[in-house]
Amino acid sequence: NHGYIEVVIGPMYSGKSEELIRRIKRARIAKQNIVVFKPKIDNRYSVEDVVSHSGDSVNAIPINSAKEIYNFIDSKTQVVGIDEVQFFDEEIVEIAMDLADKGIRVIAAGLDMDFKGEPFGPTPNLLAVAEFVDKIQAICSVCGQPANRSQRLINGEPARYDDPIIQVGAVESYEARCRKCHVVYKDKK
Ligand code: ADP
Ligand code: ZN
Repeated sequence: NHGYIEVVIGPMYSGKSEELIRRIKRARIAKQNIVVFKPKIDNRYSVEDVVSHSGDSVNAIPINSAKEIYNFIDSKTQVVGIDEVQFFDEEIVEIAMDLADKGIRVIAAGLDMDFKGEPFGPTPNLLAVAEFVDKIQAICSVCGQPANRSQRLINGEPARYDDPIIQVGAVESYEARCRKCHVVYKDKK
């Protein structure tokens, strides 16, 4: 029996984490053997949670690189969940395929586009090899239509294409926006 790869993609606030959590909880009801991972953003190595913007959560293991997944799975593992998959190295694609070959159901959630509207990290290649892809939408914070993009704002203004990732003293925020309302200034200030 082989497993398969399921990917849930969309912009920020589209409900990717919610959907991952929903699938994990159902697998748990089915008494399956589950491990959930997320990229480690701080330096602690403890069990943390995948938490959706609506407050729902499941336990997750924070890891630095995709290969660490192998330290936490064994022959009994049936389901592997991965949140924020866009932050992993490209190797996550090979590893997801290997897990599926071994009979594991792999459920990955993440951003398909960055704030510039460009394909984000390993997500595009993961989509290509997945059995199932669900592309979900948020609600555009400007016009209320379905939103497939993440708007980056610096001090409340649309970010520029080459604005640095961390700006000292600046307040950075994100909104879900549709194609029409998404703005990325490409010119220099
Ligand atoms: P993601 O993982 O895609 O960022 P989450 O699962 O964490 O999304 O959060 C989805 C939840 O965010 C929605 O159920 C809703 O409660 C909330 N939310 C906040 N802003 C928006 C928005 N603009 N469109 C849709 N949902 C939003
Ligand atoms: Zn809009």
